[in-house]
Amino acid sequence: MKLNDKWLKDPDTVLVMQALQKKGNKALFVGGCVRNSLLKMPVTDIDIATDAKPHEIVSLAIDSGLKSIPTGIEHGTITIVSNNKTYEVTCFRKDIKTDGRHAVIEYSDDIEDDAKRRDFTMNAIYSTSSGIIVDPLEGLKDLKIRHVRFIKDPNKRIVEDYLRILRFFRFTSEYGDPNLGIDADGLAACAANIDGIKLLAKERIGAELKKILKTKNPSIVLAAMDRAGILSNILPGSSSKYVPILIHQENQNTINWITRLVVLGGAEPTKSLRLSNKESREYKYTLKAINLGKKPSVVAFEFGKDIALSYSLSLAALTETFLPDNLYEQIILGTSVKFPIEAKDLKNLQGKKLGDALRELKDLWIKSEFTLSKKDLLKNR
Ligand code: ATP
Ligand code: MG
Repeated sequence: MKLNDKWLKDPDTVLVMQALQKKGNKALFVGGCVRNSLLKMPVTDIDIATDAKPHEIVSLAIDSGLKSIPTGIEHGTITIVSNNKTYEVTCFRKDIKTDGRHAVIEYSDDIEDDAKRRDFTMNAIYSTSSGIIVDPLEGLKDLKIRHVRFIKDPNKRIVEDYLRILRFFRFTSEYGDPNLGIDADGLAACAANIDGIKLLAKERIGAELKKILKTKNPSIVLAAMDRAGILSNILPGSSSKYVPILIHQENQNTINWITRLVVLGGAEPTKSLRLSNKESREYKYTLKAINLGKKPSVVAFEFGKDIALSYSLSLAALTETFLPDNLYEQIILGTSVKFPIEAKDLKNLQGKKLGDALRELKDLWIKSEFTLSKKDLLKNR
């Protein structure tokens, strides 16, 4: 089996691979780039595994005029920059001691050691720089049937690093065959190790849940996480119940992970998942719109198109109703209208009185669904 994708021949990538192999070391592509190429899915980042040690990686990079950044040097990872593109280069390694998140590592010359410390069989498929597949743990077999499966004993692998619980659901949602269902041993091991989730930083949990919510259809996986008690562990009070209803009403242009998060519900996800300011704002405005229960056109006027969409979709899901037929017309209306009154139209007022009057007129105008004209509004003043 041979890969023939464009990224393999990208001159910047070739430069990195040649640099690493210049003194006879091995360097192989691994992880997402190989997995996604085999699945004919887009490749976003390139991970490389090598038997060169960190200091050798740095000097091999320098010898070829490439910049290196010691991103995770304590676990053997160096980022090499080639013409502004970044490559995560990690030494072949074994995890000697683990505490549920971090590992004490030992370098290895053996690719099989390196494969065994990875999480899922489909993530431990390698490719040489010319595209020849190296598959020490028979990951290809699982990849072909889209079976997301832990390498060896799921329970042991999770106890080494509890982040793997969330990665298991993410990869299952993204790459698993929905007809095959979720790997039963993996699921049982995740459920049995819920307590370990508390060892993870909230940012990491948030980042993984975000990735899960960004997959095309996370319904099955979220329902499984819910049943196993994992969802309420990471997001107390949440429920997967309304997610399938939301997904049924989404289309390519309206998929938004924040909307999905709103539909999951739960207490303060902005804090428990450490959302960014921008994400928190989007979440809070959508929730505020739900609580105010205004028309989508009004929400669009007050908060913009994206919040209006997120609001309409989440409200329809949570109330198990359909989206309004004229939703898009309403949103276009709300984002295109302009309040017809300016301060200069209320010449006799100043200061606070002017502010109050403008607000009052604006409320009236919004209530009329933007139909009252300037003349109508000023009539009784
Ligand atoms: P993507 O980049 O598309 O999210 P990926 O598989 O490349 O997918 P990364 O997080 O970039 O995922 O990790 C690269 C590889 O490193 C994985 O494919 C896997 O082999 C290994 N890996 C990453 N995180 C872990 C982990 N927590 N436990 C074990 N192996 C891991
Ligand atoms: Mg990757």
